Amino acid sequence: MKKRIINIYSNDLPASENICRLLKEKLERSGFVVPGDFSHEAELLVCVGGDGATLEAINKYDFPKVPIIGINTGHLGFFQEINPDQLDEFISNYMAGKYRLQPLSTVQATVLSEDDTNIHKGLNEIVIKGWKSYSVHLNISIGGSFIERFSGDGITISTPAGSTAYNYSLGGSIIDPRLKALQVAPIAPMNTTAYRSFTSSILLPSDLSLEVVPEYTKSNQIYLINDGIETEYRNITSIKVEFSDSVVNLLRFETYDFWNKVKTKFL
Ligand code: NAP
Repeated sequence: MKKRIINIYSNDLPASENICRLLKEKLERSGFVVPGDFSHEAELLVCVGGDGATLEAINKYDFPKVPIIGINTGHLGFFQEINPDQLDEFISNYMAGKYRLQPLSTVQATVLSEDDTNIHKGLNEIVIKGWKSYSVHLNISIGGSFIERFSGDGITISTPAGSTAYNYSLGGSIIDPRLKALQVAPIAPMNTTAYRSFTSSILLPSDLSLEVVPEYTKSNQIYLINDGIETEYRNITSIKVEFSDSVVNLLRFETYDFWNKVKTKFL
């Protein structure tokens, strides 16, 4: 009989590590194999911690195709589906097939410099920020047309799944993940006679991409941050941001409803 393998990823908080041990024992008693290292043969990835742990695992394992479920030992737990006291219920519902998948679209940034190309993906967002505390000037084109020279701290380009994260703190809208749109939100935009930038977020349909050409003044460095993972770039020529082909499938049980989750976590 084919082995049924489940990967578990945990952050390093003692509470998460305890749940991880307990879950491993319970899964093994139910006939699953839980490998020590990430297995590409696994049918499910369980992330123990907060949303941060789920984001870390997804980025570390390069946006795996297998379903992902989060167990919340963190603060907010927007992606996380179950609490630590629901392990038995989780295993029995999973074995009985009583779940559905929530497909979440992801965003990708292609960073071009004279002799290099780098790609970064995000489930929440891509952030482009100025180096250290310098303001940043970004020439932004949408669908090939020049739109604005943004000046301020930076911009975020969020997926619907990420609309409740950094984007929300910036005054951006919450987007139902069943919609396919990218949201561009300004971080501390300057809006004076010297510099003019949009002060609200803007929404783009899934077939449009955003091109960002940095204009270097005090520094030729810039930060690109995908899901909280920061990379410092020097002398890049442009960044293209668009939907990525990767889809993250979160495993959700019958009671899950996006707007109920928003209500319980935000209001
Ligand atoms: P963190 O600074 O520890 O997380 C910030 C908070 O965002 C945590 O409470 C986290 O939930 C929550 N969160 C993450 N993804 C979310 C989502 N899709 N919807 C609602 N809340 C969400 O950093 P982290 O845990 O590594 O997460 C990285 C994320 O932090 C980035 O992707 C960015 O969106 C966010 N961030 C926000 C701000 C801001 O709001 N000013 C600034 C920088 C980064 P848990 O408590 O469950 O982990």
